[in-house]
Amino acid sequence: MSTTSPSTPLTTRAQCAALDAADPLAAFRSEFVLPEGVIYLDGNSLGVLPARTSGRVRELVEVEWGERLIRSWNEAGWFEQPHRLGARVAPMVGAAPGQVVVCDTTSVNLFKVLAAALRLRPGRSTVLAERAAFPTDLYIAEGVTSLAGGGAHTVLLDSAEQLDGALGPDTAVVVLSQVDYRTGELLDMAAITRRVQAAGALMVWDVCHAVGALPIELDACGVDFAVGCTYKYLNGGPGSPAFLYVAERHLAEAEQPLSGWFGHARPFDFTPGYEPVAGIGRFLTSSPSLLGQAALGASLDVWEKADLAAVRAKSLALTDLFIELVGPLAEFGVEVVTPRAHARRGSQVALRHPDGYPVVQALIERGVIGDFRAPDLMRFGFTPLYLSYVEVWDAARQLTKVLESGEWRAERFSRRGAVT
Ligand SMILES: *Cc1c(COP(=O)(O)O)cnc(C)c1O
Repeated sequence: MSTTSPSTPLTTRAQCAALDAADPLAAFRSEFVLPEGVIYLDGNSLGVLPARTSGRVRELVEVEWGERLIRSWNEAGWFEQPHRLGARVAPMVGAAPGQVVVCDTTSVNLFKVLAAALRLRPGRSTVLAERAAFPTDLYIAEGVTSLAGGGAHTVLLDSAEQLDGALGPDTAVVVLSQVDYRTGELLDMAAITRRVQAAGALMVWDVCHAVGALPIELDACGVDFAVGCTYKYLNGGPGSPAFLYVAERHLAEAEQPLSGWFGHARPFDFTPGYEPVAGIGRFLTSSPSLLGQAALGASLDVWEKADLAAVRAKSLALTDLFIELVGPLAEFGVEVVTPRAHARRGSQVALRHPDGYPVVQALIERGVIGDFRAPDLMRFGFTPLYLSYVEVWDAARQLTKVLESGEWRAERFSRRGAVT
């Protein structure tokens, strides 16, 4: 592929078609429902519908629920579902068995693991996080530290680079996102985890924007805790259940405060007095949302056939291509914010433009769906299982047309919905 140097011509649409013809992941596209006339660059926010999901959810509703009723808790394995799905997510995040469960939401799971981590570091009271983190992570950290008492508090870093200066004998826990939801920047999980632990603190990673986008190595990096969601790159569906990871070495001691009956050693004894079950099950709280879990199971059927190294290779090729093709848009004030170095890039490209919001709306009207994050970032997610190189080329072309024509200035593109 060509570079953005002015002396070399940009990649042509025909070259993109040739890349598609040679794409080892091309067959996965038929596993997904892709609406006609849409180029979907928002799979980092809500992944598309896998073709097999509707049938699986219908089976749960009509047979497991509708016909078998309460018998399905045993017969259809409902009770074990958080563990079974956890075991299927585990290889995608580099976790040996017994350390991952699928339950609740990312925010709730972060509450549980942060509280557990804080309790494992008595005498230390600081939680370090990044100011630019996905805000729910910061809100949850505030909630956990305010409940913990004992002077526990959250300190916000202006960037992960300030971490070394901030780590100290009072640091209990550090929570960071492996891939930044706005810029798409990828952090060095192994190096940061090592530094945090060398300071005697515990490391919690939020892998929401990394899981399904690149291979993750939680065990190999020695991570203490992690959380992630399944409705972005994993295509679990809107509001699908999240997952959490607790390193085996912490499982005997770790205690989380949402001590509901599903984390109890003998929930069906119905006895007073909480006694956590041994193992990762103690991080469960309550009845699993089985409709969402069924949808995730269907999506994981697809993911289990995908080689994550191939996904990563294509992701980098797609984002390289898009970065190259939008380079000339600097003329319209568009700045590429996402790092160009592969080792520092997730699977999205963020473009800064002061009028990013109406530009994205005008682009959506042209059938190219990206999104916008305040104050000025246009985000484009690249999902290798169902995106083609030609689509990336066409998307860049449409963005160019939106900017060249100035059509985004139309008043209707500046009206904002509740969700951007
Ligand atoms: C998407 C995302 C979340 C979402 O949290 P929910 O509790 O599922 O709404 C949290 N953190 C990060 C970093 C995310 O990207």
